[in-house]
Amino acid sequence: MAYFTTRPNAGRHFLQIPGPSNVPDRVLRAMDNPTMDHRGPDFGILGLKVLANLKRVFKTSAPVMVFPASGTGAWEAALVNTLQPGDAVLMCRTGWFAHLWREMAERLGLKPEFIETDWRRGADVAAIGEALAADKSHRIKAVAVVHNETSTGCFSDIAAVRAAMDAVGHPALLLVDTISGLGSLDYRHEEWGVDVTVSGSQKGMMLPPGLSFNAISPKALAASKKITTHRSYWDWGPMLVSNETGYFPSTPATNLLYALDTALDMMLAEGLEPIFARHDRHAEATRRAVRRWGLEVQCADPKAYSSVLTAVRVPEGHSADGLRATILEKFNMSLGNGLGQLKDRVFRIGHLGEFSDLQLIGTIGGVEMGLRAAGVPHEAGGTQAAMDYLSGNA
Ligand SMILES: *Cc1c(COP(=O)(O)O)cnc(C)c1O
Repeated sequence: MAYFTTRPNAGRHFLQIPGPSNVPDRVLRAMDNPTMDHRGPDFGILGLKVLANLKRVFKTSAPVMVFPASGTGAWEAALVNTLQPGDAVLMCRTGWFAHLWREMAERLGLKPEFIETDWRRGADVAAIGEALAADKSHRIKAVAVVHNETSTGCFSDIAAVRAAMDAVGHPALLLVDTISGLGSLDYRHEEWGVDVTVSGSQKGMMLPPGLSFNAISPKALAASKKITTHRSYWDWGPMLVSNETGYFPSTPATNLLYALDTALDMMLAEGLEPIFARHDRHAEATRRAVRRWGLEVQCADPKAYSSVLTAVRVPEGHSADGLRATILEKFNMSLGNGLGQLKDRVFRIGHLGEFSDLQLIGTIGGVEMGLRAAGVPHEAGGTQAAMDYLSGNA
């Protein structure tokens, strides 16, 4: 029986939302260890190891900080350490998460400027370049982009955003949310010239919710030292001082750090490139199934296809939420819902984190059976298309 469910015991629940993702048993077991003294001599050994391995996953030599919080906390940390009220921030409305980050920026007194998209592609790099070129007085202090837009299944080309900023010689900071991309999609904090990368534990990192991350650049650190407005819990300053010896200014989420340590060991043993290739393969198999069903993938630009999740549009006159309810009820699988303007229009299949070919086939098979049970018009054979692709590309 699952820890809390009203459904009878019918095998393992399929948690195929795009985060929280499935947590490996090895990671769950790591959490099931005695909580230790976070000021004691052993703690620093764990802290230093985790902070060093995190840098390898972000691909940076500069500090990465861990805050006990959901990803939203690390969004706030990125904004309050680098910007102050009245500062203009250029953001790109690629989907619901970009929209929420903008709302936070407004609540913090920043002045977001939004580049719209149709939620079917990545950030509009040309429009970012034009906005920066027009900003001769350097009013814009930061460009903030969501790397993997979890509401649409589209990812943005961060290296291209950096290149557009450099092409016009604009000094704005580059802030990137890769809460759902890290550990699933290629990400290079340092090489791409990102100033603050925001991430979280419960998606590609294969952990439960509860940890959030900021990777920073020397330029972001210098900016943070000039900020004069209020910040306290999110202040990078004391965190960086404590982290030098593997400790934290306030009580860290000790057992989640055991989990993080184990997840990082697993990821570095598998290798980042093989992890990304595994996600690409499962995403391609999923899209083949969707096409065989005769349904449409929300992402309309193949260059922006996310390997983390696939958002699928339901035909006009049909309910994505009704389909999800049927699939949960009959097959004990959770799929992601449509967010914001996509509410009830799409369902989202998460294929991230700890995930295998057979789990994918179970997932796709559950969707196909659900389409039939819920009376959503489709062609049969999507599961077969996914099997054909996976068996031919093992
Ligand atoms: C999940 C997610 C968030 C929000 O993170 P929380 O952990 O729910 O606070 C923000 N941005 C993206 C892209 C996400 O996928």
